[in-house]
Amino acid sequence: MIPKSFPKLPDFPPGEVWLAGAGPGDPRLLTVLALHAIGQADDIVYDALVDRRILDLCRDGAELIAAGKRGGRPSPHQRDINEVLIERARMARRVLRLKGGDPFVFGRGWDEASALTRAGIRFRVIPGLTAGLAGTALAGIPATSRDTNHAVVLAAGHRAEEGGSADWSALAKLGQPIVLYMPMSQLAEIVTSLQQGGLASDTPAALIQSAATDEERVVDSTLGTLVADAARHGIGSPSIVVIGAIAALRRELLGSLVGWR
Ligand code: SAH
Repeated sequence: MIPKSFPKLPDFPPGEVWLAGAGPGDPRLLTVLALHAIGQADDIVYDALVDRRILDLCRDGAELIAAGKRGGRPSPHQRDINEVLIERARMARRVLRLKGGDPFVFGRGWDEASALTRAGIRFRVIPGLTAGLAGTALAGIPATSRDTNHAVVLAAGHRAEEGGSADWSALAKLGQPIVLYMPMSQLAEIVTSLQQGGLASDTPAALIQSAATDEERVVDSTLGTLVADAARHGIGSPSIVVIGAIAALRRELLGSLVGWR
């Protein structure tokens, strides 16, 4: 089935850590390399957002270790997750750190990569489909289209424990679409700041909850009605919010776009 010209998949040496993205949900959106890694790992340290059916792909005897961060619930400290990765690698295990989406997009992947580097542990990064681009695509929202935009902003809505939040009025002035990760806790404040920055209330928007899962929901909205629409439809986490002209383009595709489920 796989032709000889296909590149050889790398061996997973004991004592290495692979930081892999699992994509936004559905196991079929895994990369070939991520699937390969899951089949070889001794330990899989996984996020709350990783689909159970993906973990079921592990080899017999693999140890599954939950390390997810999830808004509202007690979650392990990043330091402790780093420690687990380092300890397990030092025990000569093949350690797979499996994260939702892409490990280097709002996923603390860099923190882990730098901790591993300081500890002298070899690691590999396996990118994944990030929710803000794959979840939007599945909903029929292109990240770019020639008629609407030449850039797209990926922004974290949730204020990280350290560091501040984005400069929303500056982003409003860019006039480029904004894809918000972790949008729900600060949505009202973000909308107000974008409006104060000059973004019109009738700017198209969309809410996408649980993209690429059986619970996927897409709600068409506008900047001015986002907060009310989110409440009315009971949109919770995990969700992506898209604000900008691209959000309206999906409405033109609905006659032919085959749904994900
Ligand atoms: N590394 C991940 C993002 C982690 S931050 C990635 O690249 O996708 C967690 C946030 O990602 C969630 O709050 C939500 O905004 C978004 N997210 C992840 N999976 C999602 C999904 N299936 N549907 C909608 N949003 C998702």
